[in-house]
Amino acid sequence: MAAAVIDGKAFAQGLRGRVADAAARFQAETGRAPGLAVVLVGEDPASSVYVRSKGKACQEAGMKSIEHRLAETTTQADLIALVEALNADPNVDGILVQLPLPKQIDDKAVIAAIDPAKDVDGFHVVNAGRLAVGEDALVPCTPLGCLMLLKDQMGDLSGKDAVVIGRSNIVGKPMAQLLLGESCTVTIAHSRTKDLPAVVRRADIVVAAVGRPEMVKADWIKPGAVVIDVGINRIDAAEGKTRLVGDVAYEEAADIASAITPVPGGVGPMTIAVLLRNTVVAARARLGLGAEAGL
Ligand code: NDP
Repeated sequence: MAAAVIDGKAFAQGLRGRVADAAARFQAETGRAPGLAVVLVGEDPASSVYVRSKGKACQEAGMKSIEHRLAETTTQADLIALVEALNADPNVDGILVQLPLPKQIDDKAVIAAIDPAKDVDGFHVVNAGRLAVGEDALVPCTPLGCLMLLKDQMGDLSGKDAVVIGRSNIVGKPMAQLLLGESCTVTIAHSRTKDLPAVVRRADIVVAAVGRPEMVKADWIKPGAVVIDVGINRIDAAEGKTRLVGDVAYEEAADIASAITPVPGGVGPMTIAVLLRNTVVAARARLGLGAEAGL
């Protein structure tokens, strides 16, 4: 039986609509729109595209987008000075420093300088720690987006066996924490995991966040499992063109899973939608306004 296709694009559109409503209510309550500052250092073409689309999405949701583009040669001290100015700016609710940073700058030092209350990427150790101990936290956008899709598809996740492949600080680890918070039995697999196919075969929920094209095969998947594919890999296609594929061999896995996210159109669109959501959540929390339902 063919798996249900989990339509991340449609879910993200719905979330962006709810964020726009919440942003309008915030404006009515406070007299200003929620503000997201995005900082880009250097000219990396992919980062430039991300920053532009984040700014556009922000404006479409009725939020204020503040963009800072700094030269490739910017020093760590100058970047941290900008982050501190944004921390102090009352009209800035969220701060995102686009990674990767040029080699003279230490990512960790810059992330540590962001006010945790404005850390809409959820990368600050204070937010990672809060997530780990089950306190309210700003949670990294991609894994939170995956969790939203899973809950929408499956409802209660309690007691499910979940395998997260990948242990990065931005996807794998927070994903595992979120699933544990939903009372799943969680296994985190990585490059040293022995017999990965057998580990994945136990899972009711598989989240693949590896960065290896079509690594997860159909015979790794338990019949009826739900598969979330975070991977975005560009591979060569016919006639000198390229195409995007995930970390899961989609066509064959779709014959075994009960539901699966496509690439593109699955997890990808959720990341920016959750970034906007995190900005409104951060804005309300910082001003001591109550949480919004439906976000
Ligand atoms: P990282 O490279 O930081 O982490 C990859 C993880 O995969 C590591 O933990 C690594 O293990 C593990 N891994 C590598 N090879 C294997 C293997 N053969 N078997 C098992 N595990 C393996 O990547 P990210 O977490 O940043 O991103 C993962 C993927 O998700 C990428 O394709 C990225 O493009 C995509 N992505 C998509 C986003 C979206 O918006 N949809 C957002 C962020 C990322 P080890 O720790 O042992 O090295």
